[in-house]
Amino acid sequence: MKRVFCFCSVLLLLLIPLAGAAADAWPTAQELFERDPAPDVPLTCDPRIDPLIVLVNKQNGLPSSYEPELIDLKLPHKPGVATQQMRPEAAEALSRLFAAAEADGIKLGVVSGYRSYGTQRAIHAKKVAQRGRSAELTSAPPGKSEHQLGLAVDVSCASISYRLNAIFSTTPEGQWVEAHCAEYGFIIRYRKEWQEVTGYKVEPWHIRYVGPEHARLVTALNVPYEVYMEYMQLCWNARSHMPVSE
Ligand SMILES: [Zn+2]
Repeated sequence: MKRVFCFCSVLLLLLIPLAGAAADAWPTAQELFERDPAPDVPLTCDPRIDPLIVLVNKQNGLPSSYEPELIDLKLPHKPGVATQQMRPEAAEALSRLFAAAEADGIKLGVVSGYRSYGTQRAIHAKKVAQRGRSAELTSAPPGKSEHQLGLAVDVSCASISYRLNAIFSTTPEGQWVEAHCAEYGFIIRYRKEWQEVTGYKVEPWHIRYVGPEHARLVTALNVPYEVYMEYMQLCWNARSHMPVSE
């Protein structure tokens, strides 16, 4: 009997931390909504069609014809890389981010900004030819890349030869981006612990512009953008169903 008790106790001790870890991962959209059904962020239309915060991932794609308004990024970039482009609001925010980084002694370089459907198709085909199915964890199929939105950018630094590698998060430049990008409206889109939700491996170099209000809230909540957008949908549904006051 004593042995059975001991076995059960050990099993319990082993299971408690596992249960705790799962519960601590991150809240669901429903839990976020119950905590705060009206967060102080701009929600001017249905989040599914809001061109600034729209979710683009493997389940939510863009048509091949989608081409945003673009401007050139007049910023330092990886040597040998052509001038990149982004949507004007994202380009201006990135300029402010680069200037603030430089003021702190941090020198960043743009590696990749806007990518058209056709460019993404070529990149994806090349990666799949090189790596087979594992390429799906690192490269988005055409129409499923945030780069086609003109709101995502890959940044790196000279000390790692501007490579797009997880090691970027260990550099002072990568740590600066992680600590400050939300102030300029950008979020780190792909974290290691979110791989099951995002479908991609960790990418500390890939930042997505969503505007400063949303970026601060996403970062403070520390949830995958997929969960955040589900939360925004609940907020929007509740807001749009409220009776209009006269
Ligand atoms: Zn990227």
